[in-house]
Amino acid sequence: MEENYLKNLDKCSRCGGCQAYCPLFSELGREPYVARGKVELLDHLRAGKVIWTDKLADIFSTCLLCGACAENCPNGVAGDKLVMMARKDLVTDRGLPIIKKNIFQHLLRYNGRLNMAGKCLYLYQKTGVQKLVRSSRALHVLPMDLAKIETLLPAVAGTPFRQKVPYRTAVAGSRLKVAYFTGCVTNLINPHVGQSILKIMEANGVEVIIPEQFCCGVPAFASGDFTTGRILGEQNIQAFSHEKVDYIICDCASCLSTWLDYPELLESEEAAKLTGKLMDVNRFIVEVLDLKLVPREMGVKVTYHDPCHLKRTENGRQAPRELLRRLSPAYEYVEMGAADRCCGSAGSFNLSHYRLSQRVAAKKVESILESGAEVVASACPSCIMQLSHALKNAQSNVRVKHLVELAAECLE
Ligand code: SF4
Ligand code: SF4
Repeated sequence: MEENYLKNLDKCSRCGGCQAYCPLFSELGREPYVARGKVELLDHLRAGKVIWTDKLADIFSTCLLCGACAENCPNGVAGDKLVMMARKDLVTDRGLPIIKKNIFQHLLRYNGRLNMAGKCLYLYQKTGVQKLVRSSRALHVLPMDLAKIETLLPAVAGTPFRQKVPYRTAVAGSRLKVAYFTGCVTNLINPHVGQSILKIMEANGVEVIIPEQFCCGVPAFASGDFTTGRILGEQNIQAFSHEKVDYIICDCASCLSTWLDYPELLESEEAAKLTGKLMDVNRFIVEVLDLKLVPREMGVKVTYHDPCHLKRTENGRQAPRELLRRLSPAYEYVEMGAADRCCGSAGSFNLSHYRLSQRVAAKKVESILESGAEVVASACPSCIMQLSHALKNAQSNVRVKHLVELAAECLE
């Protein structure tokens, strides 16, 4: 394992403070599932007292990488990063599970194949096959909660966002030029989020360039497949370094945080230069555009869920809330309890650990319902999918929106 991460092990005083913050420890109440337990196990691995087994692999797969332990550790132990490094070590030792290997190495790396997969899912949903599969209950006989996992699937776009919009938007007398990293979810599932961003930029004289780009690599990095993650990261750095722009904007908290880690993950100076221009789109709207809106009186109560990967970035808590305040009187912002607690999505965690992930989400649903909000806004497509699913399971009518969708509505 890498030396600088191993130093983290020695920093841990075993105080157990992380227990109070770990969403999984609060559900499972068992030491291996909290940072302290994982540090102890990694110490044993380092000393050669234990080796990778299925049980150990399962323990290290049971982490949301939410970073709550790291944020609150008095000794600065980066629990989430340690888990990522442990997963990397595991992949070196035992290889990737076959399904992940195929997805990361034969799908994520190729935009054409990803688009084709999106098209197949779109047809599955639109031609009635999905209805047939659900009514036949065929998935219920399969293992791994497949029937439930299938219901997580949001509606897929017929045509990817990046195929529908030009490479460069034409804005007469533009005052700023930005490159937009759309992420896979906006591209394949939420094109309306991308359209909202283009609408806001156009209304504010910002020219937008959407370069050919790839998955940011977070699913691969989070699963320990650093080879695929680095290939994707390097392709993105190459694509964006060709563009002479003032800023790079991003609408996904996980993509943003992966990009911010590129300099270290890729050991690249070019990446370091580019990340200096990188900004979460909400922060860009508030701090750079200083967007003034003229919202009409609607008085819709809205609350906000902090994506784990956004809240620790510069102004990652303040900027989204400031944007929400500017939506008044169309939307009246109310803070929910534990707004910054992880929703349990964690990329593919909600697929691999469906039940546990939904237990974590249920706490978030409680907070949302207690706030009395009619809409919950967020800034991460993965959180948005998870919250939509959990609220639907709770038979709630609360709608889940990306912040930029609400802001774009208030332009009119
Ligand atoms: S990871 Fe930090 S909070 Fe947790 S036991 Fe170690 S020192 Fe304490
Ligand atoms: S990253 Fe989150 S889920 Fe993982 S050990 Fe830390 S607090 Fe728990």
